[in-house]
Amino acid sequence: MSERKLRMGMVGGGPGAFIGEVHRKASRIDGHIELVAGAFDINPEKSRQLGAELGLEPARIYADYKEMILKESALPKDKRIDFVSVATPNNWHFPIAKAFLEAGFNVMCEKPMTMSVAEAIELQGVVKKSGKTFGLMHNYTGYPMVKLARDLVKAGRLGILRKIVVCYPQGWMAKPIEKAGQMQASWRTDPKQSGAAGCIGDIGSHCENMAEYISGLKITELCADLTSFVEGRRLDDDGNVLLRFENGVKGVLHCSQISISEENGLSLWLYGSEGGLEWHQEHPNQLLFKPQDKPVEIWSRGNPYVAQASPAAARGTRVPAGHPEGFLEAFANIYANFAETILQKENGKQLDEIALDFPSVEEGLRGLAFIEACVASAKDGSKWIKL
Ligand code: NAD
Repeated sequence: MSERKLRMGMVGGGPGAFIGEVHRKASRIDGHIELVAGAFDINPEKSRQLGAELGLEPARIYADYKEMILKESALPKDKRIDFVSVATPNNWHFPIAKAFLEAGFNVMCEKPMTMSVAEAIELQGVVKKSGKTFGLMHNYTGYPMVKLARDLVKAGRLGILRKIVVCYPQGWMAKPIEKAGQMQASWRTDPKQSGAAGCIGDIGSHCENMAEYISGLKITELCADLTSFVEGRRLDDDGNVLLRFENGVKGVLHCSQISISEENGLSLWLYGSEGGLEWHQEHPNQLLFKPQDKPVEIWSRGNPYVAQASPAAARGTRVPAGHPEGFLEAFANIYANFAETILQKENGKQLDEIALDFPSVEEGLRGLAFIEACVASAKDGSKWIKL
């Protein structure tokens, strides 16, 4: 790729924040993106503090996103940011993404994309009208072995798909840590900042995105049982969901923030008429392929047979087999495709299908449809709800 470096701005990701720093590190991995501006914190003083620590030009460390849009728009085209990454709590994604798109900037946004389906539909219209590139950080689809899984399913290696099991257990919120002011738990348990759902929006939406990405099928109906186990918590911290996909495929999804000792156990199993697949986020360099009546095959990232089965997996691989790649590289893969798409558009090139392989506003809308359906089903005694 890259005739030039893309200039990145960031909103969110202030001192002590989690995912903003992951974005900053991952976007640097390939050397094609440079952070030049930001409004990093809800507190302008902390934004200045972090911007200074990052060595940014003082004039490009902003008090808030509105000032950032105003002042960046006034800079010459070859100096102003090419895109902004939004790494704030959920309630800010929609207004910030919309404002930057309307001002003519490309946007990379954290998930869940918005607080409601209505906002997601509105944002879809804004993206279309703007002609700008919009990326959504469903980072798990950036793993090479997830891309391989999708390509094996697409190539029919599993036969006719029958069942998908996907789960994301965590245990870090098993106690009421929000009451002690734990930063990440505080907004995640506040409906005004998190949205109508807790756990199901935070990590259930990753499960939904992974199941639809790998299978190439949409969830058509679901039935959800959501629970707040921790006393006084206003949003769900555990979710168990039955799924029906297109083509008669059935599924089970569970996610949890109270499954003590579990860390980031996102895992997926797919079963077809001829074989199965199994992948675990905590061991992302291997994908298990399970043909009927034959030994289980362990496919290992970085090998020529992976590249042959999945050019997208090969493209998202930086070091040889046996040298582990992980979370940051998966983020970097989303950034690499997003950045390449921006440059291809800028240079009037034909958009490359492999570069376009990153989550966007359509996936964001699917995520919100899933979240709202889960909440509606759970409120109505776990009734089946169509998406
Ligand atoms: P966090 O609480 O650690 O950080 C949020 C940061 O945003 C803080 O610095 C806060 O001051 C800042 N902020 C809040 N409102 C702001 C505003 N209006 N303008 C500027 N800055 C503002 O939260 P986190 O855990 O990093 O999560 C942030 C987002 O990232 C959430 O939407 C979350 O769902 C998402 N996330 C995604 C992943 C992933 O794997 N893709 C992982 C974790 C979090």
